[in-house]
Amino acid sequence: MSSARIQPLPPEVVERIAAGEVIERPASVVRELLDNALDAGATSVRVELRDGGCRLIRVADDGAGIPPDELPLACQPHTTSKIATLGDLGAVATLGFRGEALASIAAVAAFELSSAASDDGLAHTIALLPGKPQERTVAARSRGTTATVHDLFQSIPARRALLRGPRAEAQRALGVVRAYALARPDVNFTLVLDGQLALQTPGGSVDEAVAAIYGADLSRRALPLGVVTADSAVLGGVVGPRGVTFTTREHVVLAVNGRVVANRALLTAAATGYGPLLRKGRHPLLVATLSLPPAAVDANIHPAKAEVLLADEPEIARLLREAVHAALGRAAESVAAHSSPPTAPHFTRPLQLALPAPRTRRGLLLGERRRRYHAAPAPLAETLPSGPLSLAALCQFDDALILARTPAGDLYLVDQHRAHERVLYERLSASREGVHRTPLHGGSAQIPGQYLLDPVLVELTPRQAAILTPRLEELASLGIDCQPFGGSVFLVRALPALATAGPVETPHDVAGALTREAAEDADDWLEHVRIALACRTAIKRGQTLAPSEQRALLADLCGAAVPAICPHGSPILLRYSREYLTHAFEW
Ligand code: ADP
Ligand code: MG
Repeated sequence: MSSARIQPLPPEVVERIAAGEVIERPASVVRELLDNALDAGATSVRVELRDGGCRLIRVADDGAGIPPDELPLACQPHTTSKIATLGDLGAVATLGFRGEALASIAAVAAFELSSAASDDGLAHTIALLPGKPQERTVAARSRGTTATVHDLFQSIPARRALLRGPRAEAQRALGVVRAYALARPDVNFTLVLDGQLALQTPGGSVDEAVAAIYGADLSRRALPLGVVTADSAVLGGVVGPRGVTFTTREHVVLAVNGRVVANRALLTAAATGYGPLLRKGRHPLLVATLSLPPAAVDANIHPAKAEVLLADEPEIARLLREAVHAALGRAAESVAAHSSPPTAPHFTRPLQLALPAPRTRRGLLLGERRRRYHAAPAPLAETLPSGPLSLAALCQFDDALILARTPAGDLYLVDQHRAHERVLYERLSASREGVHRTPLHGGSAQIPGQYLLDPVLVELTPRQAAILTPRLEELASLGIDCQPFGGSVFLVRALPALATAGPVETPHDVAGALTREAAEDADDWLEHVRIALACRTAIKRGQTLAPSEQRALLADLCGAAVPAICPHGSPILLRYSREYLTHAFEW
């Protein structure tokens, strides 16, 4: 037992402990100062770091400024110009509101705040050095504020010891500035690391910000998220080209009302939108900007304001998932886009380009010959021309591909199996959910079943039987008539009409496979059934197609919502644009 007596901590110690919750490292200082600059309506923000911010952090903005008499107040704990009452907390539209950032910074570093709040060309400066009296000076400056932080944590060796080297800290701060620059492309951001320009965005569109940060080539191939509105939510942004993935999540930026946030549900939704395009452990380039009414956002749950809670999160997650999915679905593999990997001067890790590895999950590669996509250089994505896809069949190649042309003279190679699989899959999805309805299938309510001449008996384990039984009704909506037949035996009497057309496997095989898929202990079992059904019943490679069949298949594909990617995530189309042909042949 310790004999030390319990005593209250001196106030300055309390302050430092509290500050530690918000100010962990240079990147968190940068984040707070950027929030303040943006709250002040800045259109231009310059961030300067020395030694990764351990020696110096300076953020200068052209915002509204702080009146001279309020300067000392700004640096006191729990002083803010952003809320006055508890009721205001629900309606915070700004990035900061706790009124503790500047005080926290001043508690752990030498801090200087210089601001001009009017156009008289004079800035008042207040300098807070640990253990010294406040100093005030006046200097020339145009309207705006400059906050300078010297020697972070110098008086607190234990905290300083937790910092990594200057390079690693600079990298983190770069990540913060990059995320803000993408979340607020309208603002001009400049980052200078040890006297060298590391990042600069022009203050314009999100495309311009992406181009400034990742290079023009990548920006050209990025896919617009398309503005989606639901109730009071507005979603916009861009998705990096498929195939461009990273080992970290730092290029996934979620912004809610201009604030960079983390939100587990939304991150998961974005990843789900990629589906099998994203290999395990890889992360995409994604900028998703959400506008929501302030009352729908609770930023108060996280000390560093990083994690936010959203009202109606599932709905917003669905919006994001579908927007990402739709954007990627319009991307074809393009031969014309072959080029060296994008090189931006600010990457310390090389960008990696990779096609998704084939998924080997059970049932996923049925009807597909297993192969690895390791051809180098990996083809890059290119957005399909906007507007409806129009493909006219030319001929079949090796009973595997359909060669097709567009009215504009682009040449396409279409994988016949995957194309058919995509069409069937969407038809199956449309039968149940309005959201996936395509013009082609106009919302057919149910997939009609077709009775089998010989009903198929399927024997399951008791556990599988228990899982399957409550799902029989949903199976029926897909046209699969499956009934209990005593014990754990089931009788399949009908399969979807589409499953019995063409030279497919025997109904016996299909019925057995689907029933087992439906008895799987997984939340997304229905999705698995749809994929398995589409895959098993689609035209195979090796099958000769009459010209009329080729035409019909392409017409169906052109009406699909996601014509470029099969349900397993593999490419359906290969595009040789007219431009590419002209260039390659030197016509
Ligand atoms: P909060 O942002 O939570 O209000 P801070 O400690 O970050 O608290 O800032 C305190 C106050 O100082 C702010 O409410 C704002 O009035 C003022 N302030 C801080 N930085 C700036 C800036 N760059 N431009 C204008 N005003 C600022
Ligand atoms: Mg603040």
